[in-house]
Amino acid sequence: MKIQTKAVHAGDRKRPQQQIPVSTPVHFAASWICADQAEQDRIFAHEQKGYAYSRYCNPTNDALEELVASLENGHGALACSSGMMALQHALWCALLERPKRILCARDIYGATLKLLYDVMGPFGFQTELVDANDTAAVEAALDRFQPGALLVETISNPLLRVPDLEALARLCRARNVALIVDNTFATPLLVRPLERGAHLVVHSSTKYLGGHGDTLGGLIVSDEAHFETMRRFSRVNGPVMGPMEAYLTMRGIKTFPLRMERQCQNAAALAQWLRQQPQVERVFYLDDPAHPDSAVIGRLLPEGLYGGMVSFEIRGARRAEVFAFLDRLKLCVRATSLGDVHTMVLYPWIASHRDVPPEQKAAMGLRENLVRFSVGIEAVEDIIADIRQALG
Ligand SMILES: *Cc1c(COP(=O)(O)O)cnc(C)c1O
Repeated sequence: MKIQTKAVHAGDRKRPQQQIPVSTPVHFAASWICADQAEQDRIFAHEQKGYAYSRYCNPTNDALEELVASLENGHGALACSSGMMALQHALWCALLERPKRILCARDIYGATLKLLYDVMGPFGFQTELVDANDTAAVEAALDRFQPGALLVETISNPLLRVPDLEALARLCRARNVALIVDNTFATPLLVRPLERGAHLVVHSSTKYLGGHGDTLGGLIVSDEAHFETMRRFSRVNGPVMGPMEAYLTMRGIKTFPLRMERQCQNAAALAQWLRQQPQVERVFYLDDPAHPDSAVIGRLLPEGLYGGMVSFEIRGARRAEVFAFLDRLKLCVRATSLGDVHTMVLYPWIASHRDVPPEQKAAMGLRENLVRFSVGIEAVEDIIADIRQALG
């Protein structure tokens, strides 16, 4: 079945369960009444599938989890309260029987670095960073550092680099290292990392999957090997999404492939227009034949679906000129998220990459004149008109 069909059918329209929720769907019920004690006993013993308590499972969350597992072609999923919670839970599951060391792409979401260093570090988890786009460097780091997990993003922020997931998966599988992929930017419409050999896929569903900027959430999709651990842990530590958020996320996903196709089209049109503007120094978009990862992009992404993120440098601009450009925007929303239906813009220099040391910014190629757009579903003419008047 195609992703567009799965988005509107998978996980939905099930016959009601026999147990009666103590409150009404959206299943806000914290607990369920069983037919008799023997049934509750079977549910607690995992001999019978059923509902007892919402920290273990909830029908609204179950539907969302089935849907997202289906989109990613995974064994099963867990809906979490945020993308960061999903990342932390995925790491705990991956490292249960592996060395407590994480090899992480250098080019990664800022809060992910804080999670590794400030939250997990004090508990003994060690982190080392690597250039994930340099497969040979990853191989050398895997052999020297001997991590339990490798953590990468399908499309990096804000310079839109694409690591070779298939090559990384082969290296990891040869060494019993878990490959965890944050697929937030690419979404399962573009890349399904489990099909490329990853063990666990993580999403911030706050972004493209939810899509409307109104719901914080995260999802983990796992292979069969990690599924039981993921659920067993979550029954105890309860990182779970609330049922209202699960409902809103599922509602958002119904139109996610449509939105994403439009966002990819708009982003490609915007990138093409930007390349012709004298005020624009460099444009970062995955359709560029001169992109440093173009061979990988050709293998991993479907033709013409290159994502909704476009970054560009304003020629000769320092911080003050970038501020002035951003302040002149009238339609594009200046806010720190992405993936919403409306076009959004972020200035990485003062926001997502504020705490990245200058020498690391230089090594990445991140400059003071770079802005990052998350292109929305508006008419692209209106997005371009807004950016044109702001560039002046
Ligand atoms: C936003 C984001 C996260 C964190 O997700 P939250 O839902 O904000 O907790 C993780 N990874 C990437 C790539 C993101 O864009």
